[in-house]
Amino acid sequence: MSFASLGLSEPLQRAVAAWHYEAPTPIQAAAIPAILRGRDVWGSAQTGSGKTAAFALPIVQKLAASQRPPGRFVSALILVPTRELATQVVESVRRYARYLPQPLKTLVAVGGLSINPQMMALGGGADLLVATPGRLLDLIDHNAVSLSEVSVLVLDEADRLLDLGFKAELDRIVAMLPARRQSLLFSATFPAEVEALASALLRDPVRIETPATAENTPEILQRVIEVDVPRRTQLLRHLVETHAWSGVLVFVATKYSTEHVAEKLGRAGIAAAALHGELSQGARTQALADLKAGKVKVLIATDLAARGIDIPKLPAVVNYDLPRSAVDYTHRIGRTGRAGEAGVAISFVSASTHAHFCLIEKLHGLALEREQIPGFEPRETEAPPPLVAPGGGGIKGRRKSKKDKIREVAARAVGEPLPVRVVPPRPPRPQARPGGERR
Ligand code: AMP
Repeated sequence: MSFASLGLSEPLQRAVAAWHYEAPTPIQAAAIPAILRGRDVWGSAQTGSGKTAAFALPIVQKLAASQRPPGRFVSALILVPTRELATQVVESVRRYARYLPQPLKTLVAVGGLSINPQMMALGGGADLLVATPGRLLDLIDHNAVSLSEVSVLVLDEADRLLDLGFKAELDRIVAMLPARRQSLLFSATFPAEVEALASALLRDPVRIETPATAENTPEILQRVIEVDVPRRTQLLRHLVETHAWSGVLVFVATKYSTEHVAEKLGRAGIAAAALHGELSQGARTQALADLKAGKVKVLIATDLAARGIDIPKLPAVVNYDLPRSAVDYTHRIGRTGRAGEAGVAISFVSASTHAHFCLIEKLHGLALEREQIPGFEPRETEAPPPLVAPGGGGIKGRRKSKKDKIREVAARAVGEPLPVRVVPPRPPRPQARPGGERR
């Protein structure tokens, strides 16, 4: 199958050829003709499946053929959960629109940046706007943009939008859209809240479920290494030094840990950087660009970086701290093994987090082999006294935060299989001294 056979116009065929896309991925093959025909689409999109192009290519083609009314209007609105994903989506759109005879006006509106330049840019409207819900509402409240002429709405990573508590914002935004419009919803998982949103939003949608096949499923080797909590940084350093990874994304639980671990690795001569929500947008973009360019080898991040970010050829992800929910586990490990590349996802498990990891495994139907690395064998066999009361009352002396509750709901809602191909554990590894070559 070719992109031409899906009905894409010549300028778009040129763009995909320039990016060396040889053939459409399954979600592209199903979604592009449906979107071009004007149908609503409900897509279950595996991470790395090529879903951005699946909606961006036909939308660009439609925008190129239509006339935007003068004023503060936008024709296509793409809502995404994070600033990083917004930047990535708009970059893809611009890439695909490059060979159009008339340029499209494409903008991003995200929080964390001054609102004034975004308001100025929206003067005269835009053909396509990629936005996070909160900032879009701010812009609407400032009268900088009107949604009354939106002809296509995309909810990208709808599960994450709801997971991050954007339900009320989405309801407000949808109420401002014209009833006559095309709506597209993409999600990696389908908890009840996403199902409800889809039925409220979509009209007779084409449902596209891309089956997990070898072609569209990333090959992620999942490893679990037992290690005592105080030795994790040394183990991380050992792994980085003994593997020929070009880059590693390491997830930790707190902003403090991102900086602390990055600093320790830095002192050991490893190019490491921190990525968390309190950094300026410029610093966040720079950290990701440095990882992509190979200037930084290890990026230590909070869950902020877990979703939507596309780092081509990222060979490894490490869960230094375990994710809080099974859904977050899927999103984190999905940062590797993208675009047909194999990847490895390593989780550090200690006596105190063992039970939590078993729960994540159970929710995903996994049973992964536990490894110990010579020189880093755990000594702590007993979990320290629980911080969480047996009744599930959260951390002692602290009420459960809204985020904790959202994550609990998300963890309970996981019913879908993990959208990655699970590579069976390997035979026992050769015993090597710490610091020695393992491969
Ligand atoms: P996405 O799932 O949209 O995040 O895309 C994952 C990666 O696949 C991105 O780096 C895209 O540039 C790439 N990609 C998308 N479609 C294709 C295709 N048909 N052939 C090869 N690579 C693709």
